[in-house]
Amino acid sequence: MQRGQPSDADFGLSDGLLTALGESDTHMDGLDLRNYPGNVAGLPSARALFAQYLDVKAENVVVWNNSSLELQGLVLTFALLHGLRGSSAPWVAGGQKPKMIVTVPGYDRHFLLLQTLGFELLCVNMEADGPDVDAAELLAAGDPLVKGILFVPTYSNPGGQSISAEKARRLAALQAAAPDFTIFADDAYRVHHLDGEQDEPVNFVALSRDAGHPDRAFVFASTSKITFASAGLGFMASSEDNVRWLGKYLGAQSIGPNKVEQARHVKFLNAYEGGLEGLMRDHAALVAPKFRAVYEALEGGLGEGGGGYATWTTPRGGYFISLDTAEPVASRVVELAEAAGISLTPAGATYPDGQDPRNTNIRLSPTRPPLEEVGEAMRGVATCIRLASEEVRAGR
Ligand code: PMP
Repeated sequence: MQRGQPSDADFGLSDGLLTALGESDTHMDGLDLRNYPGNVAGLPSARALFAQYLDVKAENVVVWNNSSLELQGLVLTFALLHGLRGSSAPWVAGGQKPKMIVTVPGYDRHFLLLQTLGFELLCVNMEADGPDVDAAELLAAGDPLVKGILFVPTYSNPGGQSISAEKARRLAALQAAAPDFTIFADDAYRVHHLDGEQDEPVNFVALSRDAGHPDRAFVFASTSKITFASAGLGFMASSEDNVRWLGKYLGAQSIGPNKVEQARHVKFLNAYEGGLEGLMRDHAALVAPKFRAVYEALEGGLGEGGGGYATWTTPRGGYFISLDTAEPVASRVVELAEAAGISLTPAGATYPDGQDPRNTNIRLSPTRPPLEEVGEAMRGVATCIRLASEEVRAGR
């Protein structure tokens, strides 16, 4: 229950990728897939496919290699070294330490990436309808070193919350002290609906353009939780000018991305019954019962609504559930669970530096284990929550 990884059954849905290309599939879009030349922004058919996914035009898309995190890191690094299009100077000019707003609880790898690159993190709460935009507005308005916000707009990691259309419009229009304030939207779970009602993803590229900030948004995603986590495609959408800006720097360090992988994904996803949506429906059939098993085990073990021991989110999509204990016992719960053979995400991982100020938050990742094991593990976790809470209450 520790990392947000697909299960073997999820991977099995995409095993056709391994044979999607045959020996005669040497060309696509009039390009020789085996040779260097080609568009540094990606194979035209792949850009068109993922443009649909991100609700933009193909010209707004860069399809790169495996891992959207890598692409996020590249864009942030280029901003640090050269500045973005709206910047008057590189973000590290004069030895200054740029700041980035992040949401908490949030994704540990965002914190790691930003801190490794030298950003100071400013935390705002993730609320039921997205980041605390009041807090973000205050932070951005008062300090030109606040260069942007990095967060997950749809089915967030770990709470599964999606940003409302209203909050998205406010971020796109936000009055920042920095002229190059940027929305870095990691839309990793944009199409990862479960099997009931769905959240409506927002379009930051269009919203920013309409708000008079055409270059403000970079939206990232990947196929890591769609096809193969270690052999998928990372991609991003932004203004056409930003696509050219990024292409200039990507093109200096690579002659181009892996066109064979891109062609393989295009062929496989277009041939899948129902296309990408059909594949996501098949994933939902595997994943949704696991979310339900978590809720049943927690309710069964703790009582309705968590019985005063804990509360948790019930997202309509994504990969995670965010649980908060009523007492400050998250680290003790994880320790007790470990001793019982249940591996949970380390307590504190959802906050920068692994420090949850209240010691209550635990990220639950039900996708990887088989369904039966999810229920069994979560019954154990419920017992650990009771035990840890009673320890604290007895000591009072
Ligand atoms: N963003 C988020 C929000 C994630 O949860 C994950 C995977 N856990 C990633 C990015 C990783 O994406 P990739 O494999 O494309 O680097």
